[in-house]
Amino acid sequence: MVRGQAAHPTKTDSMTAQRIDGNALAKTIREEVAGRTQALKARGVQPRLAIILVGDDPASQVYTKHKVNDSTQTGLEATLETFPATLAEADLLARIRELNDDRSVHGILVQLPLPRHMDSHKVIEAIAPAKDVDGFHVASAGALMVGQPGFWPCTPYGAMKMLDSIGYDLRGKHAVVIGRSNIVGKPMALMLLARDATVTICHSRTRDLKALTLQADVVVAAVGKRDVLTADMVKPGAVVIDVGMNRNDEGKLCGDVAYDSVREVAGWITPVPGGVGPMTRAMLLVNTIEAAERTAA
Ligand code: NAP
Repeated sequence: MVRGQAAHPTKTDSMTAQRIDGNALAKTIREEVAGRTQALKARGVQPRLAIILVGDDPASQVYTKHKVNDSTQTGLEATLETFPATLAEADLLARIRELNDDRSVHGILVQLPLPRHMDSHKVIEAIAPAKDVDGFHVASAGALMVGQPGFWPCTPYGAMKMLDSIGYDLRGKHAVVIGRSNIVGKPMALMLLARDATVTICHSRTRDLKALTLQADVVVAAVGKRDVLTADMVKPGAVVIDVGMNRNDEGKLCGDVAYDSVREVAGWITPVPGGVGPMTRAMLLVNTIEAAERTAA
């Protein structure tokens, strides 16, 4: 459900959580991007995203195809360059430099993971920060940390938009983020902190996860393990954002949260599929149009 300024839920025994519909929200965001794209085109600027895929990882092939399709459908132009897994790192860096210098390209995305012989950090650092629409460059991470304009990583950015969609006021709330990766957990925590939440970051060495999540007004699960968050770990009425992407015993996509039981306790919950996933895709479009608008300003 996508809502305007909703009141914070208070839990009653008979209530199940409101679902925050990532598909619906992503659709709205894509429409906004399409409008902004039209406006730029009217000024003679065609927003353009360059995507690089190295190797033949099947999941990466699917993800990059989606990114191209999403872009095209919103009027952005996306090019997908594919290279064999044997590509030399120096050649990839040289291609990134060319794209950095190409003024018709506004965003550059190198699909991860890269083949083992490449240093992902070095490759990402080669992207011009002004074109870092994935938000993985250290300049983007630094900008987020100090509250300067930059590009936010798409997944936590999408999760924030989901909280905004229910009008959730984070000020003074306790947010618990499970996971501390550079692309999800840490930036998520910084975004929540910037909105005046009190933030706890948990990870594999956290001693008593349940004791912490039970205190949380907002829980973000970004681990990559099924049932990391179960109903007995959730405070009634809490907002639960499920970033995880896993497979259940039937091979179906599922998150980190035991959805069916947690929704009986939580106030708001994001599903998997149809939650953070589509929002991640939508936020790449937002970052790309933002990059194009900044250069056209
Ligand atoms: P990651 O780099 O593997 O990080 C996982 C984090 O979970 C680590 O910080 C790890 O702790 C922590 N962890 C592992 N076991 C734990 C446990 N039992 N209790 C508490 N914390 C635990 O993964 P990621 O890239 O952040 O991704 C996390 C999940 O989100 C994955 O399922 C991924 O597929 C999904 N994802 C989804 C999207 C989307 O668009 N929906 C986008 C990105 C990622 P340590 O640091 O101590 O190892």
